[in-house]
Amino acid sequence: MTGENRLIDRHGRRHSYLRISITDRCNLRCTYCMPPQGIDWTPREEILTADEIVRLGTIFVGMGITKIRLTGGEPLTRRDFNQLAERLGALPGLKTLAMTTNGISLAKRAAGLRAVGLNGLTISLDTLRRDRFLQIAKRDQFDAVMEGIEAALAAGFAPLKINVVVMRGVNDDEILDFVDWAKDRPINVRFIEYMPFPDNKWSTGGLMPYVEMRAMIARDYELIPLLGEATAVGKDFRLAGHSGTVSFVTSMTESFCGGCNRLRVTADGNIKSCLFHPAEQSLRDAMRAGGTDLDVERLITQAVDGKQAAHPPMEELMTMKNRTMIEIGG
Ligand code: SAM
Ligand code: SF4
Repeated sequence: MTGENRLIDRHGRRHSYLRISITDRCNLRCTYCMPPQGIDWTPREEILTADEIVRLGTIFVGMGITKIRLTGGEPLTRRDFNQLAERLGALPGLKTLAMTTNGISLAKRAAGLRAVGLNGLTISLDTLRRDRFLQIAKRDQFDAVMEGIEAALAAGFAPLKINVVVMRGVNDDEILDFVDWAKDRPINVRFIEYMPFPDNKWSTGGLMPYVEMRAMIARDYELIPLLGEATAVGKDFRLAGHSGTVSFVTSMTESFCGGCNRLRVTADGNIKSCLFHPAEQSLRDAMRAGGTDLDVERLITQAVDGKQAAHPPMEELMTMKNRTMIEIGG
């Protein structure tokens, strides 16, 4: 059933965007995402099956979701990814099926993904230097990601979003290199403020605030604001003479909670109404206990009703009990 949105919370926010983590496994070890000691992978039987994900997708779309992003861990480590994407992409009422990936297997797969119905793609790339990639991601996969980006462009993913987590003293000296790199390509470079999660080496000193990133670019370029949707998390700009665009995701210094339209489902099937709020309810357990679609809808409604007006300030987030980014799904 499509139509009226039934995902409106107590603060009047209408939720139309669902991020589903489909695995907590990953073939990179980015320092800002995964704790150095690694994580205990969730046993496979606790991860949502493709049928469960499609069932949840169907329920959520019936309640008002029009955009689903598949994320993780690394979504392309799931062997059934293409079949899953094809089934979700066919849901009536769903307008956008997107994925966030580290890009290392896209060289071979990008065209096929487009063919099964994926119509939005974000690739994470924090550096344009091979040696630095190894330092950040702990795996020597820079060339694979760059080839993956070319394949994604050739397959027609445009604009192609590139996520760059900016960390002071690590890659902040490459901000202008990224802007130049996107000059002649349909690429949206998204500079993301470094967020704190358990054991991810975050410090206030490592965070480079949006205003500083913006000032750095503004020394060389005129940033022309693009009017986005009120719910967009990025502040978007074009640059004179550039095909590429630049966005800033300012979760730490200028939170966008007031316009938040997102809900999340973790790889083990919990609904999470906010990335920074530890509350979770298991939709998987309800389904596995024989619950009806209506039972699942009730749990979703409860989670939406419990959504906080805003996430706590940065200093509190550092000490808060939460799961790691890779466990929640970015
Ligand atoms: N493996 C895929 C990837 O790397 O694109 C998808 C999952 S990853 C958790 C999703 C996004 O979260 C990536 O763009 C990553 O850069 C971002 N991310 C992870 N940890 C972060 C942090 N501490 N602060 C800001 N962004 C983070
Ligand atoms: Fe893996 Fe993505 Fe996290 Fe890097 S950011 S460790 S690629 S899940």
